[in-house]
Amino acid sequence: MRLVEVGVVKCEVEEPELRELLPLISRILREGAVRETIPVSRRGESLIVTGNYGLYYALTTLGVKYLPVSEGVEEVQVRLEDLGFYDEVRGDPVRVYENTLELLVKGWPTPLVRLASLSSEDVNVWAKLECYNPFSNSVKDRIGWYMFVDAARRGELQDVIYEATSTNTGIALASMAAIHGKKARLYVPSSIQKVTDTYLRILGAEVVRTPTSLTVEAIEGVDRDAARDGATHLNQFENDANFKVHLRFTAKELDLQLRERGITPSCIIGGIGTSGHMSALSFYFKNRYGNVRVVGVQPAPGEVIPGIRRVETGMKWIHMVEFDEIVDVTLEEAVRSSISIARREGLLVGLSSGAVVKAFLKLGDKTGNVILVFPDSGYKYFELFEKYL
Ligand code: PLP
Repeated sequence: MRLVEVGVVKCEVEEPELRELLPLISRILREGAVRETIPVSRRGESLIVTGNYGLYYALTTLGVKYLPVSEGVEEVQVRLEDLGFYDEVRGDPVRVYENTLELLVKGWPTPLVRLASLSSEDVNVWAKLECYNPFSNSVKDRIGWYMFVDAARRGELQDVIYEATSTNTGIALASMAAIHGKKARLYVPSSIQKVTDTYLRILGAEVVRTPTSLTVEAIEGVDRDAARDGATHLNQFENDANFKVHLRFTAKELDLQLRERGITPSCIIGGIGTSGHMSALSFYFKNRYGNVRVVGVQPAPGEVIPGIRRVETGMKWIHMVEFDEIVDVTLEEAVRSSISIARREGLLVGLSSGAVVKAFLKLGDKTGNVILVFPDSGYKYFELFEKYL
């Protein structure tokens, strides 16, 4: 068995569907190790995979630096750490970057901060601050980047990108388009704050307001327009790069942060929109740590909270993983909780972050280390905050 850098190995067999890969990824995460090698044969400078294709794709989905290869399949026991599993989320300690894209991909991990105002003798509450992503100042930079890169790798990226967005994914994609010399047209529901249009247009994107309340209701129309105009519709609601980027980066870096500080998570709470980030966190942590409780947060019936929506409006990945509880929060509760965090912690967090705080407060049992995922900051929502001050 040899360990070789991922880039040297080529696989000519097509990647399986995410759903087919999940059982093997689950086993690797549970065992923290790989049991078999990937058989390869040499062709010029490259090594071509000749079997165990699932293992190749499971490991590249998880983002290892090295692959365990041999001529035929060998039984081995190689720890994920020895495959450089955590290397890509260690960041640059002096934070000097060659270009703006590196701000994102070499800027991780985003900070994890203990919230003294929510912690007590029984519970430590930690917030993962996704507003530290550079483009949309939100968790959505991750999927904007990964969907873009994935489409480019498949040769499916046209010169123009169309996407339905409630703001953050739109900003992330407009930034990606600007960096790569492409154009973006973003479909924004009429229910979303006005300032979004200005941000998107500053970034060079075209904005189309749709007469829908939920972003997801616009996707059929976006599909049709994209097909008509020869544009790429990445579709954050269906694109598995959404789940995969959170599995490979968001979850892994949170795991690294907790491990290095000796913290065992008891509960993770986060909002659900496409369900991408919370589904991946649930899948990763339930496999890696066993009894972590995972709580999703949705708007109460009839309520609109930007970025999150109710499970019954239809989402993909939440049905492939396990959630322990879904908590309802009203818009007013979300806004009041954001204001309360601002006044007690000095952090101007977004409304879905406020909803996550409220869901934590509503939980019966509060012990151990609870992780709250804060998707963005409050700056985009001043039109809503104003009404409650
Ligand atoms: N919070 C905010 C502010 C968001 O923009 C989003 C997604 O759009 C979410 C939460 C939900 O994240 P996800 O789509 O990963 O479920």
